[in-house]
Amino acid sequence: MDIRIPYISGLLRGDKHQLLHIRTTDLNLVISEVERFNPDYIIADEKTINHLNGSKNYIPSGNFQEFYSAFSKRQTNIFVASPVFECDIERLNFPLEYIPHLVLSNPCNYTRRIMRNPLYRGLNIPRWVKRNGCTFCRDIHSNQKWGTEDRKDLKRQISSAIAYLRRHKGNSFRIIGERHISRLEYIIDVLTDLGVKHIEIIITLRPELLIEEYRHFIKGITLAEKGDIRIVICSIGIESFYSNDLLLYNRFLNAEGLLKSISLLYDLKRRFKETLITDRYNLFNFILFNPYTSPESIEYNLRVMKFTGMESIPQDLFLNKLIIDKYTPVYYKIKKDGLLSGDSEWRFMDRRIEHFYKRVRRLKQGSLEIDTLYRELREV
Ligand code: SF4
Repeated sequence: MDIRIPYISGLLRGDKHQLLHIRTTDLNLVISEVERFNPDYIIADEKTINHLNGSKNYIPSGNFQEFYSAFSKRQTNIFVASPVFECDIERLNFPLEYIPHLVLSNPCNYTRRIMRNPLYRGLNIPRWVKRNGCTFCRDIHSNQKWGTEDRKDLKRQISSAIAYLRRHKGNSFRIIGERHISRLEYIIDVLTDLGVKHIEIIITLRPELLIEEYRHFIKGITLAEKGDIRIVICSIGIESFYSNDLLLYNRFLNAEGLLKSISLLYDLKRRFKETLITDRYNLFNFILFNPYTSPESIEYNLRVMKFTGMESIPQDLFLNKLIIDKYTPVYYKIKKDGLLSGDSEWRFMDRRIEHFYKRVRRLKQGSLEIDTLYRELREV
């Protein structure tokens, strides 16, 4: 069972609400962590629900509207009712770590309309499949934009996170909620008020937010530097530099925009060497392999990677393939093009890529030199 797709799992117990953001391939871990809270309701990914048999009531997390409306019937303000912070299980491609999350607003507000994308216009996509954002993502965004505005709420959640870290001897937490990227300085201010030092804040974000919120990053990291707090950036969703891939995924930035975002990040790293940590986890995410991948798209991506200064790439990251199912809009595009090869499986249009993929997988190395990948590509 593959549950690599990030999802939010919520728990309702009495009038308390708790959120878990889980991204792991270890189902047993998910089950044991979820059951630990003994909730009345579990909001979980559909695939997980099938494996979570028992007497619990489940709400599918694919249906965010249902989740939020279930919650809003109980309380009008999500933040007043509960410690929205709860512990999180996040692997980030490294050995298991427990990282508390502050869930401060909708995790993602990216809503570019998919049906306006020329690749999807006129495509027959069922009504229950989402129409906004990235075409490979199952997250259905809440219609409502929510976020904690109250400094007291924020302080309470941060205190809760800090208490958790002390109990578990941890020193990092993650912020979920893109609106609060723009309020990084405010969060660091609260941490300073609480006298918290030697702590790390993990941030994952869309590349365009680095451009849009750059001045907030500067202010936030400057404050962090003064307060002996570190900012760890990871999992920036580049996905691909190749324009056809970016269009297929309905991403916001083109290659030029992505390069701008990366260059701003490198500038930040040069300026805040000690405070900004960019090498703890995978800094970028890529989905370089989809049914339409061609030698040209791979070559282009390798060239741009080289241009940005990347000399090597972790094998897993390079080989990351597009994951689809009936809840992802891209599934319907692939289906229309006759490239489905199973329920949630697809095949490469270009057989050379099939060979290339197998060759690279056989290399069995942790990290692959970009030059080696070029050589392998020339062989097919
Ligand atoms: S940025 Fe795209 S992939 Fe990430 S959560 Fe938003 S819609 Fe999904």
